[in-house]
Amino acid sequence: MLKVSGLTKRFGGVVAANEVNLEVRGGEILAVIGPNGAGKSTLLNLLSGLTRPDAGRIEFLGLEITHSVPEVRTWRGLGRAFQIVQPFHEMTVRENLMVGALYGKPGTSLATAQKVVQQVLELTGLSAKADTEAGELTLLEDKRLELARALSTQPKLLLLDEVMAGLRPAEAMEAVELVKRIRASGVTVLFIEHLMPVVRALADRVVVMDYGQVIAEGPYDAVAANARVREAYLGRSA
Ligand code: ADP
Ligand code: MG
Repeated sequence: MLKVSGLTKRFGGVVAANEVNLEVRGGEILAVIGPNGAGKSTLLNLLSGLTRPDAGRIEFLGLEITHSVPEVRTWRGLGRAFQIVQPFHEMTVRENLMVGALYGKPGTSLATAQKVVQQVLELTGLSAKADTEAGELTLLEDKRLELARALSTQPKLLLLDEVMAGLRPAEAMEAVELVKRIRASGVTVLFIEHLMPVVRALADRVVVMDYGQVIAEGPYDAVAANARVREAYLGRSA
């Protein structure tokens, strides 16, 4: 579904992405983990087009998108949710989702957008809050709305950057169930997460980054037992 090769991004002397090679397979839930500053958010920004790479190539559904602007990637089916949620606070939940549904795919009719929004409200458990202003939601509802806003653009691949940050463990597990429902609805998921119980519960496959490079890849248990991965985490918590 997604193929990344040799992807490189420098910020001054920092190589935030260093010749990253990565594949996302249709239907999977892939986790990207790594210590603070490893380059995870940079990778997501490169994939969604918010950051331009210095080198490398990104292919999505067989087409090169390396230099496409973010909205073209959205139209092609690449959705993105952020760690810092920024809904339109003075608009209702439904109105926020209508924006995504109408602009996420060019030429979407009002009727189609309303149908998409209804489905997304149900999937994310926000139906009862549809007419509440986004600024009045709780933190957990904020997170759901952030996922819902990304889903309203009808993505084939959903990119999530630490969307569970700040949630209590029980709330995070609720969010885990939601991501599972999203995948069951036919959306492939690539997520960044630092809560290991969440990674273990969700990921079919885990990619580990450190200093801008992919240092390990595989099922959770194999990656968690990997000596280089343990060193990357322990080496920096000291
Ligand atoms: P992670 O998400 O894994 O914590 P980031 O991708 O945010 O890591 O950052 C990787 C490295 O790139 C860090 O050293 C960070 O300071 C640097 N970096 C990220 N974005 C910028 C930027 N816009 N300008 C300068 N340095 C940046
Ligand atoms: Mg980050």
